[in-house]
Order: sequence, then structure tokens, then C-alpha cells
Amino acid sequence: MAEITVSKDTVASVHYTGTLPDNGEVFDSSEGREPLTFLVGHKQMIPGFEEEILGAKVGEKREFTLTAERAYGDRDETGVLQIPRAQFAQLEAEASLEAGMQLVAQMPHGPSPFTITELSDEFITADFNHTLAGKSLTFAVEIIALRQATDDETSHGHAHGPDGTEDH
Ligand code: ZN
Repeated sequence: MAEITVSKDTVASVHYTGTLPDNGEVFDSSEGREPLTFLVGHKQMIPGFEEEILGAKVGEKREFTLTAERAYGDRDETGVLQIPRAQFAQLEAEASLEAGMQLVAQMPHGPSPFTITELSDEFITADFNHTLAGKSLTFAVEIIALRQATDDETSHGHAHGPDGTEDH
């Protein structure tokens, strides 16, 4: 039997470390945790991450840098909103707000995370862009395990855990 490689409808378990190529800062890593397990070819991951590990075997390591378009996309300046500070009165009664804080707004289409970038007496500037939007990202990835997806997994569009037995 041919050795399985990362391809559509396989379930990959990987260790990874993501760094910003500009300054080497680690923004995310599976180090010290269980490997990340995901179904390949079903938009579970940012597009470039999957593309760069296609064809890899268990034990293989790859390192690559993605442009923003292949990672979290470009920044959208229309996603930066001035919200009247009065709307935060209830929250401010419990916690003090500062620039850099991440909050979640309940929007008609569902919860939307944002980052506070500025505060004035009247307004709060809320950035709804993903914190990694507009950034190039470097990943070091090691393929820990690989198997064919089950029929349930491909029809659900997600992995059912490392061995395919988790139920959701
Ligand atoms: Zn499921």
C-alpha cells in the first residue's frame, strides 16, 4: 500500500509554531499541548497552511512563510468603527476598558470579536479585523499522524479527533 500523504479527505495531526517574520515573535504554538488535528481540504485551516503541507508524510517537517492573502487576509479599514462610549456604560461599571483589550460584540449575524484600539471620552475605536490580518506569517510544521477521514468526517466537514471516534 502506498504511504499516505497529506491530501484532501485525510485527517492530519500536526505540531506547529507560528511566528511573525518581521520580529520572530511567536503568535501561536502547539508546543506543550496535544497536536492540532484537522480534516484536510474542508476549509478548517487558513488556505496557505494546508497548501504548504500537501504531499507531506508522517514525520516530515516543513517551514514556510505565507503572505497575508494566504493567511488571514488583508486588513479592511471599514472594519474599524467608532462606537459611542455610552454603549459600554454597563461593561465599564464592572471593568475598566483599555486599548488592546479584546471584546466580543453581539451582532445580528452572530458574535464578532474586536480589539479596542483607542478610547476618548466620547468614543471607543473598535477594530473588527482579525489580529493577524494584513500580516505575513511563518509556520514550522511537523506531521505527527495522518489517516484517511471516515465517511462521517467528510460529510460533517471536520475531524472527529485524532482517532476519528469523537462525536460531534
Ligand atoms: Zn461531526
